[in-house]
Order: sequence, then structure tokens, then C-alpha cells
Amino acid sequence: MLPTIESEARRQVAEAARELGRLGLNHGATGNVSMRWHRGARDGFLVTPSAMPPARIGDDDIVWLPLDEADPLDGLIEASAAPAVAASRKPSSEALLHRAMYQHCCAAAVVHAHAPFATTLSCLPAVREEGIPAFHYMIGMAGGDSIRCARYQTFGTQALADAVVDAMRDRKACLMASHGLLAIGADLASAIDMAVEAEYLSRVYFQTLQVGAPVLLDKDEVSKVLEGFSTYRR
Ligand SMILES: [Zn+2]
Repeated sequence: MLPTIESEARRQVAEAARELGRLGLNHGATGNVSMRWHRGARDGFLVTPSAMPPARIGDDDIVWLPLDEADPLDGLIEASAAPAVAASRKPSSEALLHRAMYQHCCAAAVVHAHAPFATTLSCLPAVREEGIPAFHYMIGMAGGDSIRCARYQTFGTQALADAVVDAMRDRKACLMASHGLLAIGADLASAIDMAVEAEYLSRVYFQTLQVGAPVLLDKDEVSKVLEGFSTYRR
């Protein structure tokens, strides 16, 4: 359920980070979670703090960042310490990545994870080039006929955020080359569901590749699947 007050939104973001650990999608202090959150007329988002294991993240450790900073990286880092933002923690090193999803991909919530099978696939040249193809109908849950893999860029950079925006065109999830996966949703629960499904598809695709070449669904079938998902969502 979408929160109506910031304390509840903070609780949901912290809990989502812990849930990713319980689901085996993240380990240690890897990965990060955010939710779009306005403060009055100012648009922004709540994001998990940098370098904290989810089990130790309290509601007050969640950082609010605005979307309208002129200088993306400097602005975000400074914003975390600004009294107006009232944050005691440094935001996630991938704050720029989260910000880009709200600016360009219509996200209401964002999950980034170093999930084992998605990360494994993201290290393969063929997957970096083509993504995960339509080998299974659930690929349609991500919004198209593949789950793309964003080109490699250094973590925490605007270049990585730009690469992920490119891979997320008309999609709700993507892999990130030699890094992990990202999923978005209309709320945190749906973003987590998408991340779980992307990791499941990564695992089954990986397993399929161990024993042979997968059969791919043709364009007509993918169209039917996408239509089915649009009806299912409604
Ligand atoms: Zn990461």
C-alpha cells in the first residue's frame, strides 16, 4: 500500500531493503532501494543509505533527495548533509541511478540488486549484447520481448545511470553488465516482484544454456503474451 506520511514511507523503504536480503537477491551491504516521495511541492525520492547492511538500516537512516539538483553528483552528496534535507546518512552510491529512473522511466519505486544469476548472466558477452531473449513467456512481465542488459559503466556514475535508462526503454527490469539487475514498479512490492521474476528468469535461462540452445518464442506469440500481461495488470 502506498504510504501517506513520510515515516511510513521510510519504514517501507528500510523493510524492502531487508526483504531483498531475505529473498537472496542481495548480500552484505550490496544493492539499494528507493521510493518516489514529494516534500511539499518539491519532487524527490527516499533512498537507502550508503554502505549499510539492511539489517542495520533504521527508518531514520533513509535519505531524502530532491530531483531538481542542478549538479547531479555534487548536488546529491551535498543534499544529504543539508539541513533542509535533514539526513544523517550519505545516500546510496547509486543515488544517481535511482534518480534517473524517476526522471526518465516513470518509476514510483526502484530496486537494485546484485542477484546471483542475473549478475552471472550480465558477465557473458552474448547477454551483454542481446540481453535475455524470449525463451519463456514470463519475459513479458518486464514489458517486452527481452530483458536488456545495460552497457557497462563504473558504479555510482551518471554514465551508468544513462546506460540503464537506455536499457529500460519500455521495460520494468534490466540487467547491468558485470554488476547486477534493476527493477521498477508502481510501488515497492511490485518492484520487488519484478526483481524476483527477473532473477528467476536469469536462473532458468542460465540453466537452459548449460544443456542446450533454448527455443525462443516467435513475434506473434510474444505479442499475445504482452497483450495478456496488459489485461492481467488491468
Ligand atoms: Zn550495485
